[in-house]
Amino acid sequence: MDKKLIDESKKYLMNTYNRFPVVLRKGRGMKVWSSDGKEYLDFVGGIAVNCLGHCHPRVVIALQKQAQRLLHVSNLYHIEPQIKLARLLVENSFADKAFFCNSGAEAIEGAVKLARKYARDHFPHSKFEIISAHGSFHGRTFGALSATGQEKFKEGFEPLVPGFKHVPFNDVEALRKTVTEHTCAILLEPIQGEGGIRMPSPDYLKQVREICDEHKLLLVLDEIQTGMGRTGKLFAYEHFDIKPDIITLAKGLGGGVAIGAVLATDAVASSFQPGTHASTFGGNPLACAAAEATIETLLEDGFILNSCSFMGKYFMNKLEKLKKDFPSTIIDVRGMGLLIGLELTRAGAPVVEACSKRGILINCTSGNVLRFTPPLIVVEKEIDHLVDVLEDIFERQPE
Ligand SMILES: *Cc1c(COP(=O)(O)O)cnc(C)c1O
Repeated sequence: MDKKLIDESKKYLMNTYNRFPVVLRKGRGMKVWSSDGKEYLDFVGGIAVNCLGHCHPRVVIALQKQAQRLLHVSNLYHIEPQIKLARLLVENSFADKAFFCNSGAEAIEGAVKLARKYARDHFPHSKFEIISAHGSFHGRTFGALSATGQEKFKEGFEPLVPGFKHVPFNDVEALRKTVTEHTCAILLEPIQGEGGIRMPSPDYLKQVREICDEHKLLLVLDEIQTGMGRTGKLFAYEHFDIKPDIITLAKGLGGGVAIGAVLATDAVASSFQPGTHASTFGGNPLACAAAEATIETLLEDGFILNSCSFMGKYFMNKLEKLKKDFPSTIIDVRGMGLLIGLELTRAGAPVVEACSKRGILINCTSGNVLRFTPPLIVVEKEIDHLVDVLEDIFERQPE
């Protein structure tokens, strides 16, 4: 059955993804099933999207209820689930205001526009440049792509949007040297996800915050991958004793439903006024109902701490032990909470494929970094099983 569907997939869909020859049809919790009935343990979780696991009952019920009440109305009217979601996000973050959109890239577009508009409103001279980091990933639309610090994503699409500069991640001096009177914002992922789970050095974000304060720049953090409990706190910036001016969210925000958000302080958000920015579907009732159920579940007593912080440490310890056993295969284990990378001395793709054959879905990024972004509901025995399988694969494929 898979074969026929896969042939049709190739026939009718643009060839933008290197897909595994599997059609996933059903999911519950940590598990997904293919159309021919094979069961998989899912350590990809839609790449940090399915934070509560597949088809979490609270999200499903919230969607069912909302679908019967109201699917869509224009943002020309007040929308109840949108208001509730904004309040939840504001009450649990540095921010005072939210803007909703439909994806990560769109959240970055909104943040970039807001940063430029804020500079236009507050400074007499032209101040529009945004500095981001090498190795970063901010999305595929033109603004987000221009902010992205990896050439491979940009090839063939030039010319990009002017006004973006890039500096090495974790290099405060390079950043300092690149700031000019035209700089309006610094845009960073707290932990670089797509770039290979690259961690910030301990004081980096604090020093970046200082540079921003000194030069009146906005600090924009892309928390699309690191947000929604993934690192053991609701937002990753909370680990670093700083407050950003703007953050972007998407991925886990809707618990599996498409939604993005820009959060900002009042001072910054007030640069958006009626007509300056908009999105037809942004903050639509259905997506907001799913996101509201997702955050309420995440915020329940101990959920993020237990399931993410504790399980993250358990997972990292097991991978550290694996690294000791396979020093010629594993270069590094890094991450925070349940955003974990295992850097290999060789390409990750064959390992991903071997795992898939053994019924486990994992992801590889930057060529040789296995990336684990499981649902935050993962438990010890599932982690044990993955690590056992990895051990077996490394034993069978020593080099
Ligand atoms: C996935 C991702 C994006 C892009 O999100 P889309 O929803 O795919 O547009 C942007 N930034 C980061 C850090 C991401 O991980």
